[in-house]
This record gives sequence, C-alpha cells and structure tokens, in this order.
Amino acid sequence: MQKKKHIVKHLISIIFIIIILSVFFHFYQKLNYNDFVKAEYVLGTSKFERDANVKSGKVNSYKIENTNYNDAMFYETVQVIPNTAYRVTCKIKTENVQSQHENTDSGAHISIADTLEKSDNVVGTTDWTTVTFYFNSKNRTEVKVGFRLGGYEDSCIGTAWFSDFIIESGIVDESNTWNFLCILFDNVDVNISEENTQKNIKLQLTQIHKDDVTNTMRRFASSMEEISLGKMKVNYDIIETTTPITRMSYDEENGYYVSGYDVKEVIDPYIQQGKYDHIFIAFRSGDINQEKNIKKDWIGLGYMEYRGIGFSNIRLPEDDHDYTYKYDSRINTFPEEVFVHEFLHTLERNAEEYGYERPQLHDNEKYGYQNMQLIGLKNWYQDYMNHTIKTQSGTIGLPSEIYTKKPVKTSDFSFSHRLNYFKEPENILEELHNIVEKVGILFNSLDN
Ligand SMILES: [Zn+2]
Repeated sequence: MQKKKHIVKHLISIIFIIIILSVFFHFYQKLNYNDFVKAEYVLGTSKFERDANVKSGKVNSYKIENTNYNDAMFYETVQVIPNTAYRVTCKIKTENVQSQHENTDSGAHISIADTLEKSDNVVGTTDWTTVTFYFNSKNRTEVKVGFRLGGYEDSCIGTAWFSDFIIESGIVDESNTWNFLCILFDNVDVNISEENTQKNIKLQLTQIHKDDVTNTMRRFASSMEEISLGKMKVNYDIIETTTPITRMSYDEENGYYVSGYDVKEVIDPYIQQGKYDHIFIAFRSGDINQEKNIKKDWIGLGYMEYRGIGFSNIRLPEDDHDYTYKYDSRINTFPEEVFVHEFLHTLERNAEEYGYERPQLHDNEKYGYQNMQLIGLKNWYQDYMNHTIKTQSGTIGLPSEIYTKKPVKTSDFSFSHRLNYFKEPENILEELHNIVEKVGILFNSLDN
C-alpha cells in the first residue's frame, strides 16, 4: 500500500513536470525570436509574437502587432565585408497596416536600423508578398538588418507577419561607367497648402524645355568624361512621361521639392530594371517657393537618395529665353552645370559614406574658386573631381576610387552567396541547444 502510494506520488510529480515543461515550451515557442533583438519607439505599444496559425512555410512566422501608431522592429546584427553588395529578402503579410500621415515612406518593410536605407513597404491588408532590399555595406563592418512595422518617416498601426528571411552577398560592378536616367515630367499637378488654404499648381513643359534637357544631357555625358579626365564614363536615357507629379515634399531649407518617394509610381519600374546608377527628374515648379522663406530658391537639388540610388531635381525655368540650360558662345558655354553640380552632390555624399575625407561641394569660395562668366564653376568641379584643389597641406578633392562605387543592382547577384544568418533551428537538438543557451544567458545576466 505504502509502495503504491509512493508510485502515485511519483507519477503526479512527473505529470506536473511535463505540464510545466509544455507550458514553458509553449511560451518559449511563442516568444522565441532566435537571434533577433526586439525594438520599439514607444515602449509597450507593440506586441512581438511567433504565430503558429499565420505562416508562409513550416516555421512559425514573426508577428508585430502595433496596437497604436508606433515604429517597431526586430533586427539582427550582421557582419559585413566593406564595399560589398547585399540582398535581403523576406515574405511579409499585413492586416490593416496604416501610416499615421498620408503619403509617407512607411509600412511593413526591411531596413537597416539607424539609417534611411530601406525597402519598399507593404501596407493595407495583403497576402504573403516577397520583399527585396538591396544595400552596399560601404565602409561598414556590421549592420543591423531589421524587419520593421513603421519607419523612420512615420509610425504605423496594424499587424505584420514576417517569414523566410534570406541574406546574400553579391559582386559589385566596379566599372567606371555610370548609367543615368533623366525623366522629363511633362505635367505638374500638385495641391500645396498655403496658410491653411489649398492651392493647386498646374504646369506643363514646353518643347523648348524638352529640347534644352536633351541637349544638356548630351553635353553632360561628354563633359563628365572630360572634366574627370577620363575617370568616369556616362551612358544615359531620357524618357518623357505624361504621368503628372502630384505630390511634393517640403522642408524649411529648400521649400517644396520632389523626393523619389513622391514619384515612386513612375521611377520604381526603372529601378527594378536594375540598370540605372543615378536619376535626374526634370520638371517645372513655377513660383511655388517664392513666397516661402527660402534663403535661395534652387534650380537644382541633390544629395538625395531613393532606394540606394542618387536622385536629383532639375527645375526648368519659367521663361523660355532663360539661358541656364542653353549653350551660347557669348552667354553660357557650360549649360550642363546644374546636372554636373547635382550629380557631384551624390559623389560628395558617397565619398563621405565610404569614409573618405573630402571638401564640401559648396565650399568653392573657401578654396578661392569664383563663379565665372560663361563657364560658372567649371574649374572648381574639375579640381574637385580630380583631387587637385590646392591647400597648404597638399591637394584635396574626391578620391579616384569613388567613380567605381555605384549603387547595388540586381545584376550584382548573378552569382550570389547565402550568408548564415536568420536561421531557424532545424531539429529538436538545435532547438534544445538554443534553449539551454538562452537560459544560460538569462542566468548570467541575473548574476551580474
Ligand atoms: Zn548644391
């Protein structure tokens, strides 16, 4: 009798332990984010869970639920080789994902934490969609690759599920030939708000504008080769679109301008071709910035990037007799100057991001270069591009390697190599190993 009682007692404790373990395992599976670190902007607003019901493959998906507007992500620190092309893909499914403000570059997406580098967004309610994100490591040796609901620009509400993470490295194209795309926007049709009232701006390009851009792009291509003393070559395509610019961005310094995201419907298909290294868009914006408190109304705007590609605005004049983009031996022999200037902003930015010392493009006066008749700042650009600006401590300018550092493209992945990150445990032993490791980390952190 005594013995029987003993066995029953044993049995009860075994059952009890099994229940405890399965409850523990259930919560572990629900909350285990493997090597990912969870982060959110407003703490306690997002729920991070593994979901066994909504999944795209065998393993439980990673779910972020923003119960209110928030920017939340889970990320893993990835060791990278400098100046290497990387491609990250995953599958995303969403339910009622909405950004807080209209037309912002946010949603469920892939990004690098603490940077503006990101993929396209998935918004609204969608089924599993494959999302691809390209980046160049530039001078970095590690990056935090994040899967995010929200964004740098705006917060989001709703639910997103992420699955099937892959990161691959590719081989960067190191030729010095740059492919430019110049898009002529025939129409601008934007609503801007002026002192609480909406104002509609409707403008069209004339044939003179189109001819000016065509001639100027031709001059730009040969000029870049000439000014860089053969360090870079230019190929270009000009396309014209009747799809109007209907959105503009605004900031205090520059007033209204067009960001890549503002015209994404037009430029995304060209970016997906994987051919272009830089995009110019040419349009009219009239006196849109005149009444604003803009220090100096711009004719070109650069230093911008969209999905890793340099992006510049070329603003065409209101007066058909304006000589900014016209060659005339007595008035302007360097009509491609605005294009050169804006593209150099991209090289200036790239040089900084690759960790090179370089003077600022706007510092010409500091080094004794003045705007001249007929040729503008051509001498400055030539010395800037060839590292031949004289200073007391030697010459400065762009490093010659900068001409081979171009954006990541699909063609860089003809022979790709998969990296050993974002891996799920493949069997029960690996799973147990992970659990033991996590419990170990937990105890270590309690010890400290
Ligand atoms: Zn500038």
